[in-house]
Amino acid sequence: YSQEDSGDDYLFKIVLIGDSAVGKSNLLARFARDEFYPNSKSTIGVEFQTQKIEIKGKEIKAQIWDTAGQERFRAVTSAYYRGAVGALLVYDISRRQTFQSIGRWLNELHTHSDMNVVSILVGNKSDLKDAREVSTEEGKLLAESEGLFFMETSALDSSNVTAAFETVVKEIYNILS
Ligand code: GDP
Ligand code: MG
Repeated sequence: YSQEDSGDDYLFKIVLIGDSAVGKSNLLARFARDEFYPNSKSTIGVEFQTQKIEIKGKEIKAQIWDTAGQERFRAVTSAYYRGAVGALLVYDISRRQTFQSIGRWLNELHTHSDMNVVSILVGNKSDLKDAREVSTEEGKLLAESEGLFFMETSALDSSNVTAAFETVVKEIYNILS
């Protein structure tokens, strides 16, 4: 181990959770590869993808896990959560049902991982303005009451995607340093 070692100092496991088709795989594709799949099926899901992020001159590797469609069976394995230090809880602003599921995902997260896992509530598909079923205010309120960060994103038009992942990574880094 060398103090001059500029990289490899930090590896943060971050999990994506939320109902099927809220856009988890596309958020990861947009963040890690700047790609978007208009008609994606769960098959595009990868197990995880590692993305380098620089914070205060430190290189951090964010290892971001995707469910690869497991959530359709209502059972994401405990191995998925093991060792996670961050989580993105994703819903679709155009489908209220996916927002109502957030409580269940939070329970599952807290059952399988440390209570202190840094979490952000993500209202995805903010580009679908005419189909919106969940207001920004509702998202904010839920986040406040559960102690989560909050952001609305669009994997389609890229808005806030990098910011959402970086918010989690920066906060984990702040806690650890
Ligand atoms: P997952 O099941 O949560 O991984 O969801 P996917 O990433 O597979 O996305 C489900 C569907 O929603 C796909 O048809 C995507 O193209 C679409 N989608 C994902 N993100 C967005 C977004 O931000 N805006 C819009 N309009 N569609 C999206
Ligand atoms: Mg997926």
